[in-house]
Amino acid sequence: MSPAEPTDDALAPPAPADDAPLLTVTGLTKSFGAHRVLDGVDFEVRRGEVVALIGPSGSGKTTVLRSLNGLETPEAGVVSFADGPTVDFSAAVSKADRTALRDRSAMVFQHHNLFPHRTVLQNVTEGPIHAHGVPKAEAAARAEALLARVGLSEKRDAYPFQLSGGQQQRVGIVRALALQPSLLLFDEPTSALDSELVGEVLLALKELADEGWTMLIVTHELAFARQVADEVLFFDDGVIVERGAPKDLFTRPTQERTRRFVDRLL
Ligand code: ADP
Repeated sequence: MSPAEPTDDALAPPAPADDAPLLTVTGLTKSFGAHRVLDGVDFEVRRGEVVALIGPSGSGKTTVLRSLNGLETPEAGVVSFADGPTVDFSAAVSKADRTALRDRSAMVFQHHNLFPHRTVLQNVTEGPIHAHGVPKAEAAARAEALLARVGLSEKRDAYPFQLSGGQQQRVGIVRALALQPSLLLFDEPTSALDSELVGEVLLALKELADEGWTMLIVTHELAFARQVADEVLFFDDGVIVERGAPKDLFTRPTQERTRRFVDRLL
């Protein structure tokens, strides 16, 4: 494969440079007190791939995302970004390690977590200006271009309470994109929305996938995972019980636990 072409488009996802995995996770293990919630989780994500994490509530999916984003500290395991840090959690993890992890991935939460007293534009520019030192005018220009792409230009001066739930969640997505991460992490991005608003957010996610963003998505929307994901990881009790392409995992799972879960939800 030829090396990545330089791109003028600061809004596009990072171009694929080679076939090596963007993210490699090995042996991720995390306990809360005596409760082991992740027990040796291994997986890889290639550039441009969409990986869906599915499984029962409490199986450890969110803890995986939070560990990748430096919000949890596992007691063992290695997280390695091809374009960023390699962090071995069995050794001492520094603040710099955590910052480096956070720098490579951006998380979109179940509840969008927008600042209520800041406008849409201020919410989107906050991270680039304060975490990355991007000049204010440049951060604003980039934010406006991203808002235009998701059809929210006219909302730039609105406050979060003036937006619908779906619009708020789309601003949350734009805020993640503005950080120019190499990996987008979505933690059940539609589960806090009324059912009539779910479609617009899923559509926004589908568009990001089509543009080539690398995405890890925790979701209960199995029909969506089936449509968008390149690979599905089925979690139960802190381990990946089964993984595969959606067409295989959803239609002919090899594990009884997967079959029961999929049958109930699809
Ligand atoms: P999922 O995303 O699959 O629903 P989580 O990763 O959120 O699962 O949680 C896995 C398990 O870890 C659950 O049993 C949950 O109660 C527990 N857990 C998560 N965060 C904490 C915490 N901060 N303190 C104690 N237990 C936690």
